[in-house]
Amino acid sequence: MTSNENQDPTVPKTHPRYESLKYRHKIIEGMKNLVVAEAGLIAHGRGECFDYILGEKTTQYAKKAIGAAVAAILLAEKPVISVNGNVAALVPDGLVSLSKILIAPLEINLFYQKEGRIEAIKDILLKAGATIIHGINVSKMVDLEGLESNRRKVELIADADVVLVPLEDGDRTEALKKLNKTVIAVDLNPLSRTALWADITIVDNIVRTVPEMIKIANELKKLNITQLKQILQKFNNKLNIQNTLNLIVEYIERQKEKAFEIVKFRL
Ligand code: ATP
Ligand code: MG
Repeated sequence: MTSNENQDPTVPKTHPRYESLKYRHKIIEGMKNLVVAEAGLIAHGRGECFDYILGEKTTQYAKKAIGAAVAAILLAEKPVISVNGNVAALVPDGLVSLSKILIAPLEINLFYQKEGRIEAIKDILLKAGATIIHGINVSKMVDLEGLESNRRKVELIADADVVLVPLEDGDRTEALKKLNKTVIAVDLNPLSRTALWADITIVDNIVRTVPEMIKIANELKKLNITQLKQILQKFNNKLNIQNTLNLIVEYIERQKEKAFEIVKFRL
């Protein structure tokens, strides 16, 4: 267990919101260890809100997007997985495994830079078994065109053809798209600029997406290039996001009827 997996011992496993609280504590721990920026806590809360109205599960459309994402990464010449503080705090082990299975290097890229943050993220990834981590050595970095924020500094991403960007900011997604990169986003908000700009949008919680991607990667690695291309060709991102929005609408409609019964039952 890494230091970042510390959980609040006062939350019993039987608590109805145990999973959600467990990850909240990882984010809080991450903030104390410098891994997560203060604004990362707010971003997490926004994500939780969308997760709630998705029923807190990986939907069939998220699974489709995950299949297309894995196929795109396996077909890529120079894929990169971009890592920020929240992702490193939530799923360090999974991220490292995914990077190894897909042969896609990890690159740290932060919106909020603070002394010691990059080192803290590097440490957490090293503890999770990473061997090479990019985005640390400033002398190897170049500026991404069209971006003013700290996130313009990139290393391998500058030359990458496919970039996986979990919990990304819309400005950088837009900049990556303008440079003709294939962008794969993991974002619980299907209406964020990132979700709408990306080529493949996985509307799911990163804590569920990463293990699912690992599972699918192990399956898709057995396929040939033609079969992988077919998976990609069949995928329609716009339709997939629209279907996800329909699921949210249906979920809320269902809950409108059921919600009060559930609360009363618990009492
Ligand atoms: P955008 O800049 O793309 O319009 P935003 O400004 O609304 O989005 P940001 O703070 O830039 O939001 O990005 C964080 C995004 O990450 C949010 O859309 C939030 O819903 C999403 N998010 C937060 N936690 C998770 C998580 N655990 N898994 C997946 N997505 C998450
Ligand atoms: Mg943003």
